[in-house]
Amino acid sequence: MSDSDFEPSWNAEWGTATKGVRAGTHRTHEGEHSSAIYMTSSFVFDSAEACAARFSGDEPGNIYARFTNPTVDAFNKRLAAMEGGECSVSTGSGMAAILATCLATLSAGDHIVASHTLFGSTIGLFNNYLAKLGISTSYVAPDDVDAWRAAVTPATKMLFVETPSNPLTEIVDMAALGQLAEDHGAWLVVDNCFCTPALQRPLEQGAHIVTHSATKYIDGQGRALGGAVVGDADVVGDQVFRFLRTCGPSMSPFNAWIFYKALETLEVRMQAHCRAAMTLAEWLENQPGIAKVYYPGLASHSQHELAKRQQPGGFGGIVSFDLAGGREAAFALINATEMLSITANLGDTRTTIVHPASTTHSRISPADRERAGIREGLVRVSVGLENIEDIKADLARGLGR
Ligand SMILES: *Cc1c(COP(=O)(O)O)cnc(C)c1O
Repeated sequence: MSDSDFEPSWNAEWGTATKGVRAGTHRTHEGEHSSAIYMTSSFVFDSAEACAARFSGDEPGNIYARFTNPTVDAFNKRLAAMEGGECSVSTGSGMAAILATCLATLSAGDHIVASHTLFGSTIGLFNNYLAKLGISTSYVAPDDVDAWRAAVTPATKMLFVETPSNPLTEIVDMAALGQLAEDHGAWLVVDNCFCTPALQRPLEQGAHIVTHSATKYIDGQGRALGGAVVGDADVVGDQVFRFLRTCGPSMSPFNAWIFYKALETLEVRMQAHCRAAMTLAEWLENQPGIAKVYYPGLASHSQHELAKRQQPGGFGGIVSFDLAGGREAAFALINATEMLSITANLGDTRTTIVHPASTTHSRISPADRERAGIREGLVRVSVGLENIEDIKADLARGLGR
């Protein structure tokens, strides 16, 4: 930063929407209102002495964009402010954020307890790659705190969860698991991709580390791939950052700029997703051929009270439902839609629809799937920002059949 640059101050007491708009702003001598993009991989110095001081760490500042870049830093500061964390480190994808968290903090012999409903590639990372390095994982039901307690061993260093779970929207009690982690000297890591800090802030609920796939709701428009790890200055600011700077799964400045700008509308977008999802869930409960609707905002959801406490900003944009007619009815409904996008992606302005049993959860054995409650008639909708009446009309086409 040159002498004439300045960072407008921001306040930790501000609401999340205000932080999303105002925190982490870095303004140059040009006085630009919207942030500049620093498309540069390297940085130059006035002298060999200045260069040496930067490399030795005696003087703070940029050296090379694998380590730091002003646009990426702006995104980091803004996201950390919104999550209520001391530091954020950004990565090239959501999976890179989870990989960086695990490799920076775990060693051979360590053990993870994870919910069995995690994102498929996260389970793949744990089972196929961390296992090879001598880091083992046990899986338990997300909503069964006793099962988590029973699975913890003296080697357990990490509890890893997503809440609400995908696709059945089971809620993990973060305060209970945060305490369990504390009691055993472990970290509670929450993948906050489904809620974002606009709906829930895990660090305020007992979690130690938050990971993000910025690819989903943070971008919110299906444009860019990215991820982030948020937490304290030691584990995230030091350990995860040092992994990133050495091993290199860093975020591009251009993508950081997209995400940084997207944070400005995150809260209003998430509220619109929640409002539409709630309307859709209530409507679906009264449609023919539907056996059950899964949405934490419904009074019929078995953990509705916990969801209300833990997700002060809202219940999220993901609604799943079981069709009484099984796979045939599910496929017929999906094929009858004309507007909805048939894709496993989520967190987009465009409403997406998918059949989990044959796609996102197809690699799980039928018996395990049945045990996890992912039935052949289950359909998952990520409710977008189209007019809710148009979304309902598109689904109604296939429901009467
Ligand atoms: C998509 C997703 C990821 C992985 O993110 P990428 O950006 O695709 O690497 C991780 N966790 C959850 C819950 C996701 O939905």
